[in-house]
Amino acid sequence: MPRTLFVTTALPYANGPFHIGHIMEYIQADIWVRFQRAQGHAVHFVCADDAHGAPIMLNAEKLGIPPEQLVSQVNALHNADWPRFHISFNHFHSTHSPENTELAQSIYKSLKAAKMIASREIEQFFDPIKGMFLPDRYIKGECPKCGTADQYGDSCENCGAVYAPTDLKNPFSALSGAKPVLKKSEHYFFKLSDKRCIQFLQKWTGETKLQSEVVNKLAEWLGDNGKNLNDWDISRDPPYFGIEIPDVPGKYFYVWLDAPIGYLASLKAYFDSGKAKANGEGRTFDEFLADDAVEQYHFIGKDIVYFHTLFWPAMLHFAGRKVPNNVFVHGFIQVSGEKMSKSRGVGFGPARYLEVGLNPEWLRYYIAAKLNDRVEDIDFNAEDFIARVNSDLIGKYVNIASRSAGFIAKRFGGKLGKPQLPKDIAAEFSGASAEVAVLYEGREFGKAIRRIMALADLANQYVDGNKPWELAKQEGKDAELLTVCSTAVAMFRDLTVYLAPVLPKLAAEAGALFNFDAFEWKTSLKPLREGHDIQPYKHLMGRVDPKQVDALMGVEDEPKKPDAKAKAEPAADAPSTEFALTPTEAPRPAVIAPIAETISIDDFARLDLRVARIVDAEFVAEADKLLKLTLDLGVEQRNVFAGIRSAYNPKDLVGRLTVMVANLAPRKMRFGESQGMVLAAGDGSGVYLLAPDSGAQPGMRVK
Ligand SMILES: [Zn+2]
Repeated sequence: MPRTLFVTTALPYANGPFHIGHIMEYIQADIWVRFQRAQGHAVHFVCADDAHGAPIMLNAEKLGIPPEQLVSQVNALHNADWPRFHISFNHFHSTHSPENTELAQSIYKSLKAAKMIASREIEQFFDPIKGMFLPDRYIKGECPKCGTADQYGDSCENCGAVYAPTDLKNPFSALSGAKPVLKKSEHYFFKLSDKRCIQFLQKWTGETKLQSEVVNKLAEWLGDNGKNLNDWDISRDPPYFGIEIPDVPGKYFYVWLDAPIGYLASLKAYFDSGKAKANGEGRTFDEFLADDAVEQYHFIGKDIVYFHTLFWPAMLHFAGRKVPNNVFVHGFIQVSGEKMSKSRGVGFGPARYLEVGLNPEWLRYYIAAKLNDRVEDIDFNAEDFIARVNSDLIGKYVNIASRSAGFIAKRFGGKLGKPQLPKDIAAEFSGASAEVAVLYEGREFGKAIRRIMALADLANQYVDGNKPWELAKQEGKDAELLTVCSTAVAMFRDLTVYLAPVLPKLAAEAGALFNFDAFEWKTSLKPLREGHDIQPYKHLMGRVDPKQVDALMGVEDEPKKPDAKAKAEPAADAPSTEFALTPTEAPRPAVIAPIAETISIDDFARLDLRVARIVDAEFVAEADKLLKLTLDLGVEQRNVFAGIRSAYNPKDLVGRLTVMVANLAPRKMRFGESQGMVLAAGDGSGVYLLAPDSGAQPGMRVK
């Protein structure tokens, strides 16, 4: 029975170009969507920019352009980029759109009618110079636990403590430097802690085939009958770039209310534009979503599970709408252990990947080979990438065609003979279709690739055993040559059908060459007939040049970027646009922090500052802001945990000289003792480790 599916990926924030995490998610969802289409199911696959909220408003202000202009520029950039990775969205919209305004306001009204909205006055930090309430990330001060200066309003980069902005000592606004004042304001809440809501969520969780990691997380949140759940603050005060709350003029929906509604807004725009009709869906948007048989799936990262498994289904349910059939959660992509994130200056971006000439289908293949159905991080490793593409994709799969198809055009007028798979190989191939389908359906793409490559191994054994290139030189072996080549082509055809969800462009090219359609799984896998025409063989796909990967990983680039500034910005990611793109999580203060109170020379003399050599540097597993440094002071070695992970690669630090506070009282941290402190400059936009001039030696005192 053909199914009808509505599939989304998470919405990218419209404040900069895609990072590799976005592209990984789109590739994961796209492979699943293409597989479903190949099974004959109808899929409507949409995405949109998440275009509202304070970071976009403030970034636009800094650039001197209206936020509408910023989000429309980013939208154009995104719309140009996703097709380059062969992502088959049917529509890519924006939450800054009439459809989203209409839907967000209508859902809010339904929630209110269902008595799921409450209001009450709350007290929050307010910046008297900017005239706005400050989100947590825009308030800085001294950590209430360890006293480290210049920490954000939600957590300490030094000791890892999590707290409320009102707990900070000597707080200041990261926007103006002003001392924030506490101010009251009326806020609106979605009643997540309401008994009806908790009952619904427990039921939804029980009925939905969520991943076990997600079930465990939900059990934590919903345990004790949801006693730990709080109502969700869905309103923001002006100035705010967002959607106005219909019955409360001057107040706006918090961006996280209208962002997931953007899934529906994009679907609506897709229906209203006539594209759904062109895709075979004759109903209206409302009729489509009212059909219980339509399946709704969301692909998301593990950082937004809370929003998608609590707020989103609850909002939809109490607004009288269809709820998700499932939410598919993936981990992050790391580069040899480093987390790829737009808030860090490390790692490569999708734009860079294409710029160095790497084939987007290589990335699709690599990511597919690494993915499973669990919430696990995947690692991008340069050597592994080269090996998988060159040895598996080219060496095993493309090679089958390149070693056999040419003879059919040259020697047999492009007419295929009768394929004759040896019995044992035929058995493996005939069983594969159902098995590979189950693996794709269950998002076990790595296992699917392994199964397909095991078939490719059999095909290669067959070709190696029958050596068509030798048969071609022997008299009277024409019939055998034709059979061997035709059999190899038949196996290659099956492999192409199985790989088509991952490699759509290559599959289309191979399909054109061999006159078959790789995209209709059932009809495509029928036996090839004798006399079937194929075209003269053309080169299908080349190998990765390791130099391209070096360029991607920045091996070539480093000498060209000596200035520390390049490190603080996502330079590798930045496309050629005229507007600056800054990380959303790390706002750059508009002012330089005021000079602290005067101290005496004796106060200064109490500090024992020493030159130290970094002899080892490593990541700290439980702290994503810290690096563990081993410092050589000439007379002894010290371990120090430093909040510099956002700016430095551990391997780049080894051997460097820096300056440390050598007589700071040691401090017990969760992961060990920190025996001092290294000195670094920073104003929220980056971290710059101090270094002495050449000639300084470990142990020298800084005076
Ligand atoms: Zn702290």
